[in-house]
Amino acid sequence: MSGGSRCNVTNASVTDGDFWGGKRSIIRRVLRAFPVPDTITFFEELGVRLREEADGKLFPDSHRARDVLDALLRAADASGADLRADHRVLDISRAGERFRITTSRGEHDADAVVLATGGLSLPKTGSDGAGFEIARRLGHSITPTTPGLAPLLLSKDDDLHGQLSGVSHDVELTLWVDGGAASRIRGALLWTHFGISGPAALDMSRHWLRATLEEHDARLTASFCPGLTFDDLERRWTSLAAERPKASVQSGLATLVPTSAAAALLRRLHIDAATALAHFPREERRRLVQALVAWPLPVVGSRGYNYAEVTAGGVPLTEIDPATMESRVCPGLFLVGEILDVDGRIGGFNFQWAWSSARVAATALARRAHGR
Ligand SMILES: Cc1cc2nc3c(=O)[nH]c(=O)nc-3n(C[C@H](O)[C@H](O)[C@H](O)COP(=O)(O)OP(=O)(O)OC[C@H]3O[C@@H](n4cnc5c(N)ncnc54)[C@H](O)[C@@H]3O)c2cc1C
Repeated sequence: MSGGSRCNVTNASVTDGDFWGGKRSIIRRVLRAFPVPDTITFFEELGVRLREEADGKLFPDSHRARDVLDALLRAADASGADLRADHRVLDISRAGERFRITTSRGEHDADAVVLATGGLSLPKTGSDGAGFEIARRLGHSITPTTPGLAPLLLSKDDDLHGQLSGVSHDVELTLWVDGGAASRIRGALLWTHFGISGPAALDMSRHWLRATLEEHDARLTASFCPGLTFDDLERRWTSLAAERPKASVQSGLATLVPTSAAAALLRRLHIDAATALAHFPREERRRLVQALVAWPLPVVGSRGYNYAEVTAGGVPLTEIDPATMESRVCPGLFLVGEILDVDGRIGGFNFQWAWSSARVAATALARRAHGR
């Protein structure tokens, strides 16, 4: 189901700046150990050729996530791995130097364990946070989690999102935390019947949720004209009025935002859409411009883990050795992927984190098995 069933395997350009959570230097180190070109080659060798699309996103040529899964399963099979998908791990405990793994179908002993249980996103897939509890019992702390890449709910008292449902356009979102601008994200915003979605809203969700989790005063605003300041827009309106004095305010606004949005915004601001630009009162124009650069979005929450593509928070990176992904608090335990306190923005970054961190652990385990 990843990437709208097409699987956005990775991104042409992945840097530590595309992630939030743990320390950037640790993320960078793990990414460098198995960078994007290696991911591309890895999948090509498994028969999955990747093709680049908009924003550097890489998808399988076939557009089928299933082909990625099948290739990984074939490779696991060829390597002699014994997959027991029908075993739910209930607990992992230390048994001397070894581990005792209690599953829904009996117990196993192991010299080493890799916890790759994901986070809490989409619990019905089995990623329901059980791994966090196992890690905690083995001595790890857990940075509090929130959904990430989740659609945001807007207050029902504000009906703008309902009126614009289905409309998508570019915005710059600004998160104000305790009065200061804390994060800015530019990209496409999709209005929906419940609130906002689309890349900009999804990327912003973790910032809003984490600010709220920490009980800060968090407010979100949207600029409908990304890259333009209040003064730029004022100048735009003045020159528009000079060029087309008889044009209506609504048609003027439609040069800046989608037509359907123009009508709804003017209604909300109680500005007469039919007023000719030559007669648009200065005060009203300034009120409109202010609204265009900082439209308040009354966020009341997110759609939660059932709709989140990633989990923010998790096992702190400081508790693992980034050269091996081995736990610093429980030797022999390795942690990879989303269970760690790392979450990437939308565009293939979360899979790249999973591939890179898994590769680091696998290499360390192979060395260990060969006594090197
Ligand atoms: C709908 C959706 C679409 C996504 N699309 C993309 C995309 O296109 N590109 C991208 O980069 N990222 C995408 N992501 C994010 C990406 O899928 C994850 O970040 C990535 O899969 C994390 O890998 P992981 O191996 O750490 O965890 P997961 O992929 O979550 O795998 C964890 C596995 O562990 C199993 N498990 C958990 N607990 C137990 C237990 N106690 N016993 C046994 N098994 C257990 C789970 O069943 C699951 O199979 C998407 C996420 C979602 C929810």
